[in-house]
Amino acid sequence: MRNIKSRRSFFRYMAVFGLVSFYSSALHAKTAKEIVKYQESPKDGKVCKDCLHFIAETNECRTVAGPINPNGWCSIYYKNPMLKKDTNESNITGTTV
Ligand code: SF4
Repeated sequence: MRNIKSRRSFFRYMAVFGLVSFYSSALHAKTAKEIVKYQESPKDGKVCKDCLHFIAETNECRTVAGPINPNGWCSIYYKNPMLKKDTNESNITGTTV
């Protein structure tokens, strides 16, 4: 009897472990370039190196698979709010440092 119970526990554990593995791997999967219409050139002045998802150290993207050109672009581009403002803007407003 004890042997059956431990076997049930084992299979129950494996079922839960399998489900957790399945869902966690889906969370870390990256999107294919074709799906997000990735291109190797900028679009309307928007480039990967200014995107929130870009990893400059490795030229990778947190959401798109494969090597990423810093001057590329894709449809899920999202401007990194931490980027410094363009230096030309400070010249226009006369607030030079
Ligand atoms: S524009 Fe697209 S491919 Fe480029 S860094 Fe952003 S999300 Fe990744």
